[in-house]
This record gives sequence, structure tokens and C-alpha cells, in this order.
Amino acid sequence: MQKQVYADNAATTPVCDVALKEMLPFFTECYANPSAIYPPGYEVKSVTEQARKSIAVCLGARSNEIFFTSGGTESDNWVLRFALKRISKDKRHIITTMAEHSAVYKTALELQTQGYEVEFLPVDEHGAPAPEALEKAVRSDTALVSLMAANNEVGTLSDIKRLCEISHAKKAMFHTDAVQAVGHVPINVRELGADYLSLSAHKFGGPKGIGALYIRYGRVLPPMLCGGGQERGGRSGTTNTPGVVGMAAALKNATQNMQEETTRITALRDALIQGVLKISGARLTGHPTQRLPGLASFVFEGFGRPPLVRILGEEGVFASAGSACSAGSGDPSRVLLAMGVPNKLAHSSLRFSLGAQNTLEDVDYILEVLPRALERARKEEDFLKNVF
Ligand code: PLP
Repeated sequence: MQKQVYADNAATTPVCDVALKEMLPFFTECYANPSAIYPPGYEVKSVTEQARKSIAVCLGARSNEIFFTSGGTESDNWVLRFALKRISKDKRHIITTMAEHSAVYKTALELQTQGYEVEFLPVDEHGAPAPEALEKAVRSDTALVSLMAANNEVGTLSDIKRLCEISHAKKAMFHTDAVQAVGHVPINVRELGADYLSLSAHKFGGPKGIGALYIRYGRVLPPMLCGGGQERGGRSGTTNTPGVVGMAAALKNATQNMQEETTRITALRDALIQGVLKISGARLTGHPTQRLPGLASFVFEGFGRPPLVRILGEEGVFASAGSACSAGSGDPSRVLLAMGVPNKLAHSSLRFSLGAQNTLEDVDYILEVLPRALERARKEEDFLKNVF
């Protein structure tokens, strides 16, 4: 049977063993609604609150600053859509970048249609906003600055602490989408000083469909979902207890193993980068060192239309183009374009994201398969050129 290597952990990760084990009883044994006022309900409620505490400890937060959501998309939407509702009508300026995940970017575009002035700060060639650019852009009427901690397409880490300080100096609130960062690089909300921080369990060995929003104590965020008043009225909907338990276990596991795993995965990533860069026309995208431990992203000169991701997949290597549209036929990644990557080159993007299950053998296999996949892509490209 053909070997298969999953190298798309930035898209999603397998649920880690500890998380799965801890979740299982909450599907079939301890299934009571945590809002119920009888003993099984109290028991589940207590476990839910322990999970909240555990997540808070991993992030350097207080329990009452953690609100469960369905994931990163909901957390991002909640902040962007609702953080502005309770502040002065004169503050209608919002700052973000073109390199954000669509959960922030598209919501920001929608806010533009509602009369907010949204400023897209430029990013540097590695995909990070420069603190100096933010210093110039932030104004006394800036309500919210939303800048991601780690870029999901190229893995570049931003200096969130500095960006947050600059925003606060002008009394603007600061949100960071830390969906790719949490569980992979140290995140301490107290040290960062952020007002809001989004996270999602399935990016660090937890289940899909559960995430959280950190809301700094004292910040008021009106609810996006109304109903039964769960999450202290902040987010209605029956608590996803198995998900919450799995998220807490996965985050604890990731936090405890972070140092060791960072060393191991960074070595794999660097071996992959060195190997890929030996291929003629290959270029690394994102910051050479200030990047997520497992993420290696590239563009390949001379390649374009036939999606490398598909061809690699047929060879048993599962990677990504970094963004949904560049995986298919459509436009190249707006993140790469914002970084100044030429349009044609941006079509050839490839993102490998290594995780807990990957080994050096996997990296060797990717390096064995990639030149073959590129050769196939070149042949397909020549064929397409001759036909059309
Ligand atoms: N933000 C970033 C940076 C992401 O990478 C993702 C998912 O890819 C999201 C938000 C959305 O998270 P979720 O899949 O939990 O909705």
C-alpha cells in the first residue's frame, strides 16, 4: 500500500489520546445538561468549570475570562461584530490586515459596509504588520485593532505584545486571533495584555467544533447568540461538554509537552525547508525563523495552474495551498499578494504543517515525492498550454 503522510496540521489535527480518553464518558455516561438542577447536571457542570479553569491556567487567564464558543470563526466574529456596540459612536475606525484569516478579514469587510472605517495595515514581506506602521495608523478614534498572533498560511509570528501596547497607548481595544498559536507557542494573556483572544481546539489536538474567546476582565462584549443565557449570558447554547473537556485536556497536553515538541518539530520543519530549498525555483514564504514550529510554506517558480496539492495528494502526501481558493482554480492567496509575492508565483503555494504524529521518515517521504509531483505538474502545465 502507498505510504501516506498527513502534513496539514494547520488545517486540523487528530484528537490526541488524552483528550479522546477524557471526552468519551461525556458522550454516553455523564451526558446530563450542565444547566440542569439535579445531581448528574451538577456533576457535569462541575467538570465543565474545571475544564474552564484548566484552560485559563494554560493561558495565564482567570476562569471568568474564558467563554466557550464553537471555534475560531465564532470567536473572531463575536469580537469584530460586537465589541464596537458598547463604545462611543465617535470611535468608528478599525485596524486589521489583508493577511488575517477570512473569519476576521471578511467580517471586517462587512463592517465597512456598515459605515465603519476599516484600515488594512500593510504587512511586510514575511506577512507580519510592522509596529511602526501601526503606530502611524492608530488614532484617537480607533475602536479596535485585530491582528493575528501567527499567520495560518505562512506561519509568521507577529510581535503581538508590542502591537497591543501601541493600540492601548491610543486607547484602542486589541484583539488577536491566536488560533494557530495557542498550543504551539507560549501564550500568556496577562503578558500580552490583549483584550480579546480567539482559540480553537482542533488546531492543538482537541476536537472540532469547540473553541473559546478570552475576554479580559472588565471588557463588556454583548452576546452574539441569544437564548438560554449560558456562559453567564455571554453565549447561549447548550454547553458542548465533551468538546470542552477535550479542549482542556488537549491544551494541557500541548502546554506540558510544548518545549520538547517545539524542539522536535522545529528540527523536522527545518529539515523539510532545507530539503525543499534544494529544488530549483523553490522559495520559502514567511519569516525564516520567527515562524510556527511545524509550518513550512513555499512557492515554486514556473508552476501555476495544475494544483500541486492535488498531485501531491495522489502521491500520498496531504498538504495544503494555504488558502481554500488557491487550492482549486480561483484567485491566488490574498495573504501572499499582501506580502508582495507576484501573482503568478502566488498560484504555486504549498503549505506543509507538521504535528505530533509526524516523524523524520515523513519528511524524507515528502522530499522524495515532491520533485516527482513537481515534474508531473510541469507536464500537466505543458499539456494545458498546448491545448488552450
Ligand atoms: N483563525 C485562524 C488563524 C485559522 O487558521 C482558523 C482555521 O483555519 C480560524 C480562525 C477558524 O477556526 P475554526 O476552524 O475553529 O472556525
